[in-house]
Amino acid sequence: MVHETAFYDLLGVSPKASADEIKKAYRKLALKYHPDKNPNEGEKFKLISQAYEVLSDPKKRDLYDHGGEQAIKEGGMSGGSSPMDIFNMFFGGGGRMQRERKGKNVVHQLSVSLEEMYNGSTRKLGLQKNVICEKCDGYGGKKGALEKCANCKGRGVQVKVQQIGPGMIQQIQSMCPDCQGQGEKFNSKDRCKNCNGHKVERQKKILEVHIDKGMKDGQKITFHGEGDQEPGLEPGDVIIVLDQKDHPVFQRQDNDLVMRMNLKLVEALCGFRKTIQTLDNRTLIISTQPGEVIKHNDFKCIQNEGMPLYRDPYEKGQLIIQFQVEFPDKHWLPEHLMFQLERLLPPREDVMITDDMEEVDLCDVAVQSHQKQYSREAYEEDEDAPRGGVQCQTQ
Ligand SMILES: [Zn+2]
Ligand SMILES: [Zn+2]
Repeated sequence: MVHETAFYDLLGVSPKASADEIKKAYRKLALKYHPDKNPNEGEKFKLISQAYEVLSDPKKRDLYDHGGEQAIKEGGMSGGSSPMDIFNMFFGGGGRMQRERKGKNVVHQLSVSLEEMYNGSTRKLGLQKNVICEKCDGYGGKKGALEKCANCKGRGVQVKVQQIGPGMIQQIQSMCPDCQGQGEKFNSKDRCKNCNGHKVERQKKILEVHIDKGMKDGQKITFHGEGDQEPGLEPGDVIIVLDQKDHPVFQRQDNDLVMRMNLKLVEALCGFRKTIQTLDNRTLIISTQPGEVIKHNDFKCIQNEGMPLYRDPYEKGQLIIQFQVEFPDKHWLPEHLMFQLERLLPPREDVMITDDMEEVDLCDVAVQSHQKQYSREAYEEDEDAPRGGVQCQTQ
């Protein structure tokens, strides 16, 4: 039973979401709201990280499901990790120690089709990155011409005194804008004209991303040392995270592919022959043996027609087909012909009718999907109740 859903809502998943769904939701949102990409959404980034920290840990998730955020706080389990640490842990960035010597990692999401993951593909990705200025070798200006900043007297910070009330003053410390907190700067004639004293310049770099057969949604491809360059630091990595686009026919389940196939009633009862277009554009023919009956929601599978295994692409998973049997509409058969059909079908069972029984009306049932409030309550009261909630419709 779920009382509080705020953490689930933040990640946009249902309280019944699997660990994988939670991971995927966090991945998408964390990349979207990362301060590098969305500097004004720091608060949102924090909240997402908090929600993920709780929901990704089975113990904390259980605690949250039973007692909400309050229980997490009381249990002393509220996040000790910073949003950035969670992000770096998830995307494989360096730890705190490593970050001192190494520049920041940059994470990009790459949208990939299921066909590309099946067949393999190479994608070119254009990135802007900082590289050490060639003209000044990352020094920023003429060697030896660095002067102490006059504005901050070499301290890199400036202090402003502000009166905030009668007899009350506040000191505000901020980075010196003249030297960008460096404490030293070049005067304009010695400053490197190419990088304007910034030591680095923006450059466009094309990365070739090889998507190998069988790669998965969320898989990371790391380009070591391709991150922003900064003088005195080893450059960080560029990490590409694959994001699989939904496919109109196939859903992937690990190495298996799952599809739905509609069958007419006649095909379900009397056999069929049908074709399937594969992700590498072959056409498969499937058929049933005479006498075989396929029921609604029956599963069948085809061996070795699923996804190729990563690093072992000649092996493949299975293709699973879930059949949806379409019944004909009402009055498809004139009443006077019905006895002919009945003669062919398995016989019906007779029902004994006695006088003390009650005859009642059989009505259609309407699924109420628009009454969200109603369905949520119904769902919370009874885990087995259908999500939409049903109601009898009177005609
Ligand atoms: Zn300064
Ligand atoms: Zn320069």
